[in-house]
Amino acid sequence: MPRALITGITGQDGAYLAAFLLGKGYEVHGLLRRSASADLIGERLRWLGVLDQIEMHDGDLLDVGATLRIVAEVRPDEVYNLAAQSFVASSWQQPVLTGTVTGIGAVHMLEAVRIACPTARFYQASSSEMFGKIQEPVQTEKTPFYPRSPYGAAKLYAHWMTINYRESFGLHASAGILFNHESPLRGIEFVSRRITDGVARIKLGLASELALGNLDASRDWGHARDYVRAMWLMLQQSQPSEFVVATGRTTTIREFCSIAFGHAGLAWEEHVRSTPALMRPAEVDVLLGNAARARRELGWEPQIGLEEMAAEMVEADLARHRARLGSVTTRVELRGPAR
Ligand code: NDP
Ligand code: GDP
Repeated sequence: MPRALITGITGQDGAYLAAFLLGKGYEVHGLLRRSASADLIGERLRWLGVLDQIEMHDGDLLDVGATLRIVAEVRPDEVYNLAAQSFVASSWQQPVLTGTVTGIGAVHMLEAVRIACPTARFYQASSSEMFGKIQEPVQTEKTPFYPRSPYGAAKLYAHWMTINYRESFGLHASAGILFNHESPLRGIEFVSRRITDGVARIKLGLASELALGNLDASRDWGHARDYVRAMWLMLQQSQPSEFVVATGRTTTIREFCSIAFGHAGLAWEEHVRSTPALMRPAEVDVLLGNAARARRELGWEPQIGLEEMAAEMVEADLARHRARLGSVTTRVELRGPAR
């Protein structure tokens, strides 16, 4: 039975990847950082129904001793380094933390693999944010990088260190340059979930408007379920490498609003307002990837389109809010009228 170790297993991609690998017969281990809210932390894995099938290891990416101990204990065949401070907007508020977790943290994992289990195959979660202020209208593996945020710069460092460990120590280390990917398990602070959650609240009468930032930015959005398959495919190749993973379609925030509100029968212009408070110090205006290499060499194709994904996200947010409303009503009913 192949054995995988995933950092960031409690995040969006970690949860989908864990479910995907379990479905392929893997033994799945995860690095879990200690939290005072331990009951909430496995929520995404619970949502996918896989939490109890994963062996968790207590550790933090910032603690190189812990990463070394865990890699030595697990002796994985494959390591997926997905843990990061992954929210671009926060990276200006916490640039040092972002550099440490998202950049140096990857090197902690590379060191742990190099020292304790050098035969393990390594995946680094690189990002289209490394292209930042784009140098070519369509980005490929050969497009020069120009990161526009502390997050993008930290990811670029981790990206080059992954390549460096491959070239210096012969590690089977690959990096997926993944463009934005979403799902019902996307963090609530990212724009897609902010929109679908806003649609659900407005539809259910819990809110009447949604404040967003720059509506003109444009992203190449795919579905996380499709993108974790690409991660796995990279580690099945005889030679490690870098791959762009993208859909080849770019959509503005405005258009995403139209699709998501439209799914619920709402007119987005009546509810969305743009506020300067949510603008960023430097913006990545547009991203558009060409995944021709991944299609050719990995046989990877995205299967879930944007409209289908937005509909799934809106439905999931409606269900979440309905469940919350239901439990509040039940509690009020049980308690009886307020005295
Ligand atoms: P999430 O933000 O959903 O998940 C991040 C994960 O990292 C969480 O499990 C989090 O744990 C963990 N983590 C954060 N800090 C630490 C730490 N110090 N020690 C251990 N674990 C830590 O991200 P996604 O799942 O969306 O993304 C996965 C990876 O892919 C990230 O590296 C992200 O930057 C990258 N990426 C994502 C893209 C996207 O569109 N989603 C695009 C390109 C790259 P906890 O639950 O405890 O907070
Ligand atoms: P990112 O591409 O990793 O930064 O993913 P996000 O989902 O956080 O942001 C995507 C784009 O949406 C960026 O260009 C943001 O400036 C833009 N955006 C507009 N309004 C918002 C908002 O309210 N929240 C977030 N997170 N992004 C927004």
